[in-house]
Amino acid sequence: MRLRRLETYGFKSFADRMSFDFEDGITAIIGPNGCGKSNVVDSIKWVIGEQSAKALRGAEMTDVIFNGCATRRGMPFAEVTLVLDQLSAGMVIDTPEVAITRRLTRDGLSSYFINGKACRLKDIKDLLMGTGMGTSAYAVIEQGRVGFILESNTKDRRMVLEEAAGISRYRARRRIAARKLERVEIDLQRIAEVLAEVRRRARQVRKQAQDAIRFRDLTARAKELRLAFAMEEHGRLSAELAQLDSQLQQLTADEAAASAESARLEALVAEEDARLAPSEDLIRERERARADAQSARDVARAQTDECDAQLTELDRTEAEDRTALATVAERIAALDRQ
Ligand code: ATP
Ligand code: MG
Repeated sequence: MRLRRLETYGFKSFADRMSFDFEDGITAIIGPNGCGKSNVVDSIKWVIGEQSAKALRGAEMTDVIFNGCATRRGMPFAEVTLVLDQLSAGMVIDTPEVAITRRLTRDGLSSYFINGKACRLKDIKDLLMGTGMGTSAYAVIEQGRVGFILESNTKDRRMVLEEAAGISRYRARRRIAARKLERVEIDLQRIAEVLAEVRRRARQVRKQAQDAIRFRDLTARAKELRLAFAMEEHGRLSAELAQLDSQLQQLTADEAAASAESARLEALVAEEDARLAPSEDLIRERERARADAQSARDVARAQTDECDAQLTELDRTEAEDRTALATVAERIAALDRQ
């Protein structure tokens, strides 16, 4: 894989649209200090997805947008496009060239494109993985980094070499596959648990089904028996009803006869009542006369009692008078004697 072209617009010191074409062989950029050589490298790091503002020698990410100078105003956004020639890389896009674009506005809105089509940062990272151009790779070796690489330990150096050799892509795939395998194993375990539960449930359901069949048979039998019983009951009750009907008819006839007899007797009683009425008047009159006689007798008795009392009194005065008389006679005799 080779870099073919780099286009910048509003990136750091490159306010105007700039295009760098990289021919075959080695390209070197030369210029005085502060003319923007490192900014070219920064633009390459940025377009392939660098997320650290510090790694781009700024405080915030929006510091990469051209912020104006004495002669011109700042830009509203920065945009960089890197065209790669993918001949020697195992990249997934099948166009002969692939253009990666990153754009950032002042309000921090970031967007990415592959061949002019909007995409995610991840798509760009996936595209570059194993090409030796990842942001963490040493494809870009900045001022002061050479010594660091030479002095780094074997493990770190191995990482650099693996990325350059394109192994890291397979490592990442292996990690993903291992994670998938883990998930599948967990799924399998869960399925086994579910299966056990389902088997247990199936046993229960089978038992329930047997019970249901038995219940159905017994219910049918019970229904038959109830029906037979009901038929018998019906016959018996029908006969009883017929008998009761004839009894009722008999009793109705008896009642009619009794009613007629009762009416006749009532008429008779009324007749007798009418005949007895005068005698009853007479009786009442006689009773009144007897009461009168009784009260007259009571008055006469009272009078008799009073007379008896007077007679007794008179007897008593007579006796007294006789005593007095005897006394007087004695006195007279005495006087006579004297
Ligand atoms: P050296 O030879 O010292 O390494 P250099 O050529 O690498 O220098 P750079 O560091 O690439 O120079 O460029 C620095 C210049 O870029 C400075 O003049 C700085 O003002 C300018 N610059 C950086 N960011 C912006 C920005 N956002 N807007 C405008 N100019 C910027
Ligand atoms: Mg520099």
